[in-house]
Amino acid sequence: MDPSKWIDVTSESFKYSLDHFVIPSHYQKDVSSILIPHGIIMDRIEKLAKLIVEDSKGPLVICCVLKGGHQFFADLVNEIKKCNTVLGQSVPLSLEFIKVRSYHNDVSTGTVTISLTDEECQDWKNKNLLIVEDIIDTGNTMVKLLHKLQEFQPASVRVASLLLKKTPKSNGYVPNYVGFAIPDEFVVGYALDYNEYFRDLDHICIISEHGKEAYAI
Ligand code: 5GP
Repeated sequence: MDPSKWIDVTSESFKYSLDHFVIPSHYQKDVSSILIPHGIIMDRIEKLAKLIVEDSKGPLVICCVLKGGHQFFADLVNEIKKCNTVLGQSVPLSLEFIKVRSYHNDVSTGTVTISLTDEECQDWKNKNLLIVEDIIDTGNTMVKLLHKLQEFQPASVRVASLLLKKTPKSNGYVPNYVGFAIPDEFVVGYALDYNEYFRDLDHICIISEHGKEAYAI
């Protein structure tokens, strides 16, 4: 996606105070600011769905990258169902789930584990896949996943990521659809976790030092 088409929230002015929105009381000390309020996430997903369907010609296999991508996946699929292609047709969808793990606390381990069996993926041959991911940080997970998917000979593979982190550690990978470009900080909420915590927070927030210590393992 052309950078002019995504929303860049890397400037300091996008860090909303915790007083501006409602945060569950159990997380009050664990986040330092709100980066993307839930309502804006939902409005952006409506637009991403429209762009994806405009670029689609036939049935789509939408693959959710678990666990962090599940909320974005659910909301994106709901919006895609409402959209029609440029020819005025709705898009037949099938839904798949891939489990990927690469983080310990807030640090990328460098090893990416992809849980995907050949039986699960044999039907993907000649299909148009849309991979739905929560966040691209270094890009290593997605590059590894895309390489693995080629084994199943899909007709096409596109990637939608809600977030793209602007980091010097990036390998240069840019998804086909990006919701927001974010600063090089560890974010939580909207199903993005820190050691399984914060998935129950609706806004995307920057974790605080208190939060990192409280939920470290
Ligand atoms: P990458 O391989 O691109 O460095 O990392 C991708 C994965 O790391 C994402 O799918 C996500 O699970 C995790 N990740 C990277 N940055 C963050 C972050 O800021 N917050 C959370 N919660 N997860 C992240």
